[in-house]
Amino acid sequence: MKTFNIKPVVVLALAALLLAACSAGTGSAGAAESDKVNVTVSILPEKYFVERIGADFVNVNVMVGPGDSPHTYEPKSEQMTALSHSALYFAIGVDFEQAWMERIAAANPDMQIVDVSADIDKITMVAHHHHESEAGPDDETVEEEQGGLDPHVWTSPENVKVIAQSIYQALAETDPAHQADYQANLDNFLADIDQLESDIRTNLDGISSKNFIVFHPAWGYFARDFELEQIPIEIEGSEPSAQELAELIDEAEEEGVKVIFGSPAFSTRTAEYIAQEVNGQVILIDPLAENWLENLREVSKTFGEALNN
Ligand code: ZN
Repeated sequence: MKTFNIKPVVVLALAALLLAACSAGTGSAGAAESDKVNVTVSILPEKYFVERIGADFVNVNVMVGPGDSPHTYEPKSEQMTALSHSALYFAIGVDFEQAWMERIAAANPDMQIVDVSADIDKITMVAHHHHESEAGPDDETVEEEQGGLDPHVWTSPENVKVIAQSIYQALAETDPAHQADYQANLDNFLADIDQLESDIRTNLDGISSKNFIVFHPAWGYFARDFELEQIPIEIEGSEPSAQELAELIDEAEEEGVKVIFGSPAFSTRTAEYIAQEVNGQVILIDPLAENWLENLREVSKTFGEALNN
C-alpha cells in the first residue's frame, strides 16, 4: 500500500523537475519577454509573416481575429489600449485600416506604422462581370467594368516576398541587435515561398479549366500569379442581382463548373444556390488562415481537383 501511494508523488516530483528544467532552457535560449519587439498586425497571415522573420524576438498581436472580416472590423477598446505597448504596426491596406488608422496612430504616437503593401502593384477589382452567352459567336462579348483596388494582396506568393522584405527592414531598423537573425529567417522564408510556388504549379498542372467561381473575391492576385480567372459572386460587397445570378449560372453551366468556392467568414447561401442549379458543390477556402504557407498549398490542391473535370 505504501509504495503504491509514494509512486505518484515521485512521478509528480520528477515531472516538476523536468518542467523547471524545460522552462529554464527556453528562457535562456530565447529573448526575455520584456526584450521582445511588440508588433501589432491587421490580419492573421501577417502574424505568420512577422513570426517567420522575427521568431523568438517578437511578440505579435492581431487586430482581426478568426472569423472576422477585415472589410468591416471594428477594433475592441482593449485592442486600442494595447497599442500603447507596440513598437510597430504593420498595416496591409485592408478596409478597416482606412476607417481606423487615425485612431490607431493617436493611440500610440511612438509606434511606427509601416504599410507592407506600399511596394505592391495593386490590381483593380472587377466591379461587374457580364457575359453575353446568348449572342452568336461573332457578337459574343465580355464586358468588365473596373472597380476599386483589390486589397487581398497576400493571396499572391510573389506579393508576400515583397511584404516579407518590408517586415524584415522594419524589424532590423527597430532592433538592429538581431539584424543577422532577421536576415537569416527572411532568407529561409523566401526559400519556402519559392518551394510553395513550385508546389502550387505542380498542384495546378493539368487542370482543364482556368475559371473558378467564388463568393468573396479574395483570390484575384492568386489567380493572376497562376493564370486562373476569378469569377466573383459578390460584387463590391453586395449580393448579385437576379439577372447577374442568372448569368453566373449560365456561365457555370457553359464552363462545366461543378465547384463553387465560399469562405468561412461569409454566408454560403448564394454559393449553395448556384451549386444546386449546376448540380455541383460548395467548397470553403479561407484567405485569412494563420498558417499562410500550408493554407496556400492546400488551397492550390483544392483548385487542382476542382478545376479538373
Ligand atoms: Zn476580403
